[in-house]
Amino acid sequence: MKLTDRYGRRIKDLRISVTPRCNFHCVYCHPLGLEMTDPPGTVSVADVAHFVQAGVILGAESVRFTGGEPLVRKELPEMIAAAREAGVEDVAVTTNGTLLRRRLPELMEAGLRRVNISLDARDPEVFRRLTRGGDIRQVWEGIEAALAAGLHPVKLNAVVIRGENDGEVVPLAELTLERPLHMRYIEYMHLNNAPFEEYRAQFVPGAETRRRIEEAFGPLEPVDTDPSAPARAFRIPGALGTVGFINPVSEPFCSNCSRLRLTSDKKLRPCLLTELELDIAPAFDAEDPVEALLDAILGGADQKPAFGNTLPTRRQRVMLGIGG
Ligand code: SAM
Ligand code: SF4
Repeated sequence: MKLTDRYGRRIKDLRISVTPRCNFHCVYCHPLGLEMTDPPGTVSVADVAHFVQAGVILGAESVRFTGGEPLVRKELPEMIAAAREAGVEDVAVTTNGTLLRRRLPELMEAGLRRVNISLDARDPEVFRRLTRGGDIRQVWEGIEAALAAGLHPVKLNAVVIRGENDGEVVPLAELTLERPLHMRYIEYMHLNNAPFEEYRAQFVPGAETRRRIEEAFGPLEPVDTDPSAPARAFRIPGALGTVGFINPVSEPFCSNCSRLRLTSDKKLRPCLLTELELDIAPAFDAEDPVEALLDAILGGADQKPAFGNTLPTRRQRVMLGIGG
């Protein structure tokens, strides 16, 4: 079966947040002072297995594990293996990279295929400020480990924030010249309950980011991309890697959205940018969880809104609890 929503969008990509915890405190994501252990009721390996099995029956083709920081979750390899055993080839993680060098072998052995690593700056001081204390050297070790292990593609994500890391856009693009790295610039979304005026002042449209790169390297060459992928990809002429722009605010891609999210506390989130969450925790405890989750997923897809709200607004839940 191929699941489509009421607007005709094929739902095929599952995003699973496996923990609300993180070892970074990025200014655009993480409120200070979150707990150090997963709260009771956090998604388990069996929950992931059942959710993905139901998703596969409904035509899911990819699973991405996120968080919080998914690599702080001890059971991540078992979760990856469960997704592969359910029949999903394309199993990926989005990570801040700090624990990647250490954990990559077990993740690959479990069947990990792809990684996205967040890297908001090349300058260690700018990086430390944005992540509130992060050590960029650990992230570089993770990136090097992913490249050495032959993972492909290795995508790097940077959220661009005026006055913080907009000066890093060109140095980050430079990384693609001699290595097969795929640098993606993400527009800052108002998901952290920042004061509205501060958010507006710090927002940088993707077109401006692209202009900066073209001023430095000349016109970018378009690269073929999957229309349901959020990033439009380009190449600096002669570069080994690519640069891409994820512009959810200035160029919303809702009409091609193929995602359904499961939060770490077992809520189904049909859209990142609307508050609607369906509490599907009881389905995981049902006698036949896969059967119950089929209904839950069908219900979630049916309620997927046509568009998300990218305007600054007070959010019930910050990014960390949802999973980007
Ligand atoms: N901890 C992992 C990481 O940082 O890659 C995974 C979770 S993080 C929430 C997933 C992605 O969401 C990251 O690439 C991060 O940069 C992005 N993100 C977080 N807050 C954001 C915001 N306010 N606007 C745009 N992207 C955001
Ligand atoms: Fe943690 Fe990722 Fe959020 Fe940064 S973006 S605070 S690394 S979850």
